[in-house]
Amino acid sequence: MDLHEHQGKQLFSDHGIPTPEGVLASSPEDDAFAEATYPAVVKAQVLTGGRGKAGGIQLVDTEDQARDAAREILGMEIDGHTVRQVLVEERIEIEGEHYLAILLDRSARDILVVASAEGGVDIESVAEEKIAQVHVDPLEGVTEETVDELTTFLDLSGDDADSYATVLRALYETFRQEDAQLTEINPLALTPEGFVAADSKVSVDNNALYRHDLPEDQEDLTPLEQKAKEQGIAFVQLEGEIGVIANGAGLTMATLDALIEYDGVGGVFLDLGGTDDPEEVAEALTLMKEADPSVILVNLFGGITKTDTVAKGIIRVLEEEGIDQPVVTRIKGRNEAKARELLRDAGFVAVGDLKEAAEKTVEIDHKERGVA
Ligand code: GDP
Ligand code: MN
Repeated sequence: MDLHEHQGKQLFSDHGIPTPEGVLASSPEDDAFAEATYPAVVKAQVLTGGRGKAGGIQLVDTEDQARDAAREILGMEIDGHTVRQVLVEERIEIEGEHYLAILLDRSARDILVVASAEGGVDIESVAEEKIAQVHVDPLEGVTEETVDELTTFLDLSGDDADSYATVLRALYETFRQEDAQLTEINPLALTPEGFVAADSKVSVDNNALYRHDLPEDQEDLTPLEQKAKEQGIAFVQLEGEIGVIANGAGLTMATLDALIEYDGVGGVFLDLGGTDDPEEVAEALTLMKEADPSVILVNLFGGITKTDTVAKGIIRVLEEEGIDQPVVTRIKGRNEAKARELLRDAGFVAVGDLKEAAEKTVEIDHKERGVA
């Protein structure tokens, strides 16, 4: 599981790595801005790098400027991730930018330290001879030799070398004690007071999550996905225009495959699970409407689920609030004849064959979007 910058920095700080003072804000009106230290840096909290280049990091001098920056950054899309929080951090005086990472080296069956004095950029773009790779035996940990090898390579001495050693050892402690697979600092900023972690990237082993007190949900959910989650509805939004409501993950996947057969792409998936409660079905459909797909394909298989009561839920939404999108239904299983009749009477396309339903759905999708 990947952690956000502010979470990673908290762990760094817990283990003794100097980090800038910062506060989190989720709206430009947040009280947190009053508690921040200025001048500051306002940083988008998203689980992707390259925020600087994307405009997700702004330097500000005052609280007002910080709020203005947050107004721009919150809601921004970076690499498909929506910014929901910003970190407002005291600005540090950066004299040099290093790169330092500790990661699991599976092929060598040990731990690898990767370091460079040319940080602040994508490590892949740094020349190989400027990067040190030092293996650490997990039974020994970071030794004097490890420290010497790195500080020599990086040409550090005196206080800078001491500060570097402190950060290196603390980063190793973070890596081990937090069950990380990767702990990365880029840039590890050299300041007049020594090295400071200006950024963090931490990935914790999913199998060890039970040992740590981390927030359960690190996913970047869309606002609708978040809402669905709160309602207990399995809902996923991706690229693609067609909305799919099905019961069961397997049937949902099969439906997507069927659409692809006819050159259609599902974009919003909603898994009803085993419910045939008309109320729950209505809630799910209302959510699907909000996602505004080109057409909605409802694909139901009633084993235990009574398909006619599911149909009633769909019809209820139509009667109570209307549905702007065309709806194609494919109903199979328990009470299917009754369900189809109800749906047809209400004006929906209702078929029993998946291929026919998929073909019809894609046809409508193409017509709605004006593609041949
Ligand atoms: P990334 O682009 O998503 O990796 O975000 P980073 O946290 O690495 O920030 C990008 C760049 O912003 C860094 O390389 C720094 O040059 C700059 N930056 C970040 N924090 C500070 C700060 O406190 N002071 C100054 N002067 N620059 C900063
Ligand atoms: Mn960075």
